[in-house]
Amino acid sequence: MKGYIFDIDHFAVHDGPGIRTTIYLKGCPLRCLWCHSPESQAKAPEILYLQSRCISCGSCVSACRPGKHTINQSGLHIYNREGCTACGACAKVCPTKALSVCGCEKTAEEVIDEGVQDMVFYRNSGGGVTLTGGEILYQPLFALEILKGVKAYDIHTIVETSGFGEWYQLQEISRFTDTFYYDIKLINEDLHKQFTGASNRIILDNLTRLAKVHRHIVIRVPLIPGFTDPIDNITAIYKLAADNGIYQIHLLPYNPSAPAKYEWVGRAYKPGSLDVQSGEYLEGLMGQKLPGQEVVIMR
Ligand code: SF4
Ligand code: SF4
Repeated sequence: MKGYIFDIDHFAVHDGPGIRTTIYLKGCPLRCLWCHSPESQAKAPEILYLQSRCISCGSCVSACRPGKHTINQSGLHIYNREGCTACGACAKVCPTKALSVCGCEKTAEEVIDEGVQDMVFYRNSGGGVTLTGGEILYQPLFALEILKGVKAYDIHTIVETSGFGEWYQLQEISRFTDTFYYDIKLINEDLHKQFTGASNRIILDNLTRLAKVHRHIVIRVPLIPGFTDPIDNITAIYKLAADNGIYQIHLLPYNPSAPAKYEWVGRAYKPGSLDVQSGEYLEGLMGQKLPGQEVVIMR
């Protein structure tokens, strides 16, 4: 079985306990306004272009058969994404790595091999493999195959998901998952539609079903200033967790490096300039937690 990935990160220490290998599947059905990895949204490979690295040498012009690169009259390089097949010929000849291909097709076996090669480090550190995206439910059979393969070596597995997918697929995946990192962004359905492009009903229904069959779920909340971090949204998420018997919640403060990535894919970062939450504000959010809940700020 083959699927699309956009990265494999060995020796990761921020994606769960111990030393881990984090596997990033490419493609996501949601379009969160603030997405911190816009290069993960499309399933197919795509070209990343970092203009600041371009020296306008023109090597890409002759490498590209469909003629997507030109040097204009002022001697500056122009890249036209429309009709680009992401064949990667231009990236191969770019001397400064201004052009690169994001994403590739791999077999599940190839990905599993990468996941098991650091087994000795998992054993010594209490680590394992983390499967994330993009959205793993966008390639559910591929995700399942990888998890089954990794679990055959008795490796600890974490799955990070938005929960936006078919329940029967999530249920099957849960059989090979030790811990879920389940992203909840907004409780208000209208706001969820407005800022992610989809209703949150499937996400909330799947969480309730998952909580009935799986004991290790951590709710993760990306704190986007003015969008997901208002106190009424966070307290509603605490209540959702309590209603489903989930006591662990991770709050992820805003990452100001996200907007820079939008240049790579030739898109604008729509939320505009946002301020990182202050320590005082984060403490205030933690202070609203319900009895028995463990809320951690993931800095
Ligand atoms: S990836 Fe291929 S089609 Fe796209 S610009 Fe580069 S050479 Fe041209
Ligand atoms: S090959 Fe790279 S550095 Fe040269 S013009 Fe193209 S993008 Fe710019």
